Amino acid sequence: MTETKHGRGLYLHVPFCKSKCAYCDFPSFAGCEKEMPRVIDRMCAELFDCRNAFPDTLVETMYIGGGTPSLLPPKLMDRLLRAAREAFPFSPDAEISCEMNPGTVTPEFLSVCVENGVNRVSLGAQSSLDHLLSSIGRIHTFRQVRETANLLRSFGLTNFNLDMMLGLPGQTMEDVRQTLDDFLALSPAHLSCYALIVEEGTLMEKKVDSGEWTLPDEDTERDMYELARETLEKNGYRQYEISNFAKDGFVCRHNRDCWLRHEYLGIGAAACGFIGNVRTRNPGTIPGYLRGDPQEQTILTEEDARFESVMLGLRLTEGLPESVFRKAHGMGFREAFGEKLDAPLNDGRLLFENGVLSLTRYGMDVMNSVLVELMPEN
Ligand code: SF4
Repeated sequence: MTETKHGRGLYLHVPFCKSKCAYCDFPSFAGCEKEMPRVIDRMCAELFDCRNAFPDTLVETMYIGGGTPSLLPPKLMDRLLRAAREAFPFSPDAEISCEMNPGTVTPEFLSVCVENGVNRVSLGAQSSLDHLLSSIGRIHTFRQVRETANLLRSFGLTNFNLDMMLGLPGQTMEDVRQTLDDFLALSPAHLSCYALIVEEGTLMEKKVDSGEWTLPDEDTERDMYELARETLEKNGYRQYEISNFAKDGFVCRHNRDCWLRHEYLGIGAAACGFIGNVRTRNPGTIPGYLRGDPQEQTILTEEDARFESVMLGLRLTEGLPESVFRKAHGMGFREAFGEKLDAPLNDGRLLFENGVLSLTRYGMDVMNSVLVELMPEN
């Protein structure tokens, strides 16, 4: 009898970076290159452990994130990708994405990626202005972004994303316009536009708090976002999520699945996973991961799970169909949220139309206010 397979995502976290960017609080570590072989060994072992724990898995999307996966020597990358393919069956049209940083991508690395089925790349480009890149601690220049994009194309990797940051210290509207022009000239299939968040404990926080760096004010940041949204839409990129824009057929399936709460397995230091009603997080440091420290597990209550569905699903411009919500939680939106829905529906932040709950354009700007109102009370 053939076993029924369960379509899932697979996330592999590569926790190495050349140096730490000023704004970054991701679990990534500089100066730990000597640990790469041991970390990859451990990740390969974890892949097989995971296969044994979830043998019904069919990988529909795999995302290799970081950190900077493109810092791995090609041999180690090859080992990791082969181990994933040996441990799990992949669906024939699986999306396999890899994050890369300009200035670290070599033809040898790309050869290994392509041989092992990588068919999508996300490039941490951030801006086309070198003075902004260096001020936030990025190691690359825009010339390297252009070179990397050309290199990707020469390997047939035309499905690539460029990350772009808004609200950087000293960034002007003209800077954003210039970066949009420069990025569009590279014809990426996908663009992610993220507003800078000043995270606790980062160099950015110190510099902003001391007054050394000044951030654009809130109105300017909103104008930057609007400029990006309008420019990208005019150029054939459809906004499908608050920060994400894609040409037709190039939505990132892995991320979309996460927003729709599909299950995924997390491999590597600090990697998160989601199975059933349990969210997992592997130990956040390289030594902790190598020691085999236990992963954190959070069991979601039904109420938390319902809120999470809305919190993630509303990020998508297509909204969250009530049928999907009902299938997951056995009840409709009204039963789940009752009168809490009235205010955001009545004041034009939320829309419920044709069985789909979605944020309006205005609602997207003030999404947090909607979430605070729908949040479970305790
Ligand atoms: S390259 Fe990415 S992960 Fe690494 S330090 Fe910079 S922002 Fe963080």
